[in-house]
Amino acid sequence: MSVAGSTGSIVGRGNEEGAELFREWFEGLGRAAAEDRGAAYVFVMGSLAELLRVFDFPIVFPEINSLQTAVRRVAHELLDEAEDYGYSPDICGYVKADVAVQIRHGEHPMGRVPKPALAVNTNACNTYIKWAEIWERMYDCPTFTLDVPGTRQAGAQTWPGDPTFENDRAYVLAQLHELIGVCEEVSGIPFDIDRLRETMAHANTMSRGWKRVLEINASRPSVFNALTDGTIYLGVANALRGTAEGAEYFDRLVEEMELKSAEGIGTLTEEDYRLIFVGVPCYPIFRRFNELFTEHGGTFVNSTYLWFASGGSNVGFEYDLENPLESLAEGLLITVRDAMDSMFFQTPILTGMIDEFRADGVVYHPIKSCRTVSTGLADSRRDLMEARDIATLFIESDMMDRRVVSEAQLKNRVDAFFEGLASRRHRKMVG
Ligand code: SF4
Repeated sequence: MSVAGSTGSIVGRGNEEGAELFREWFEGLGRAAAEDRGAAYVFVMGSLAELLRVFDFPIVFPEINSLQTAVRRVAHELLDEAEDYGYSPDICGYVKADVAVQIRHGEHPMGRVPKPALAVNTNACNTYIKWAEIWERMYDCPTFTLDVPGTRQAGAQTWPGDPTFENDRAYVLAQLHELIGVCEEVSGIPFDIDRLRETMAHANTMSRGWKRVLEINASRPSVFNALTDGTIYLGVANALRGTAEGAEYFDRLVEEMELKSAEGIGTLTEEDYRLIFVGVPCYPIFRRFNELFTEHGGTFVNSTYLWFASGGSNVGFEYDLENPLESLAEGLLITVRDAMDSMFFQTPILTGMIDEFRADGVVYHPIKSCRTVSTGLADSRRDLMEARDIATLFIESDMMDRRVVSEAQLKNRVDAFFEGLASRRHRKMVG
């Protein structure tokens, strides 16, 4: 790991080190594939990485591998291959890219992905469950679905000590005991609670850091772009969860962000508009998509993506290491629920972000192939506009499929949005 960014200061260090750690993580997967070691396939909303590491599983995040194929501009080949194989054009693009990677025996633009020995998923997205069934059919590997009770209705979340919460905790805890049995059987490694304490301690450091990094971006100017830089940090938050390297990375990232905040170092020469992003990024034209906003002096100060795609780590939940399993159940309930809330009960989250981050606008980006995140976004936008006088933009494309990404159309809509933002600001100044 390099000690400093290429500028000789710590500014930019998080991006460099994040990219390096990510490459190293992928190289590790390549080694596991070469040794024919079976991996644990997991998902970002409730990965359980801290538990799975106790059994020495290489950990594969198929969602991350799939989005990487779009960033590296080969996703369309994989989508075509999966569609030729029989998958419908309108299902989740991540699933189809992964199916094609599996058909290609794990061949991926970043290296080689090992086969699954076990798949662990939560109910945070219904596609997770069907996706895991594909691996079960392909590899005859066990799959485990952890059912995490979500929020029953807006504002009805319960907390430790409340009988409903404690019932839910017992329900999740019973499932964790069952999962531990499956992991022991598949890996041949007995469960070691002290190793779990170690991985949980690293996860604690990471959660604390992730929460702090997100908070610091309320600075004006904002110190990182939630859409671009934030995605790098998010990759580390997922792939290295429960590791010493991941924990150290976040300590160092907090240090960098604190410094940038103290010295007023922002991401743009001039930050004219502070925006919040709702949805999943447009990975097929990732950099250009962001430039459509930065060219107008707009930057993303926060996003719901950094919340749900970190599995709710944004809440900064820290485990009680004296009671690891009970605390793991509690943490899963609180974080996975929060991840689901940031998709399904967005309005209070967005109004809070608008106030705390002094946002000028909210950009909704529903995508064709992720129903979980996109369904209901139009209603969600209306609900927000009733709650707040804030400019919003609603643009549609995809996170994987370049066939439904029209840069020219997006640009027209974004340009018009900024004209609206400018006249809104002018009216406020003269009004
Ligand atoms: S449908 Fe959306 S949330 Fe579910 S796996 Fe696909 S991209 Fe992820």
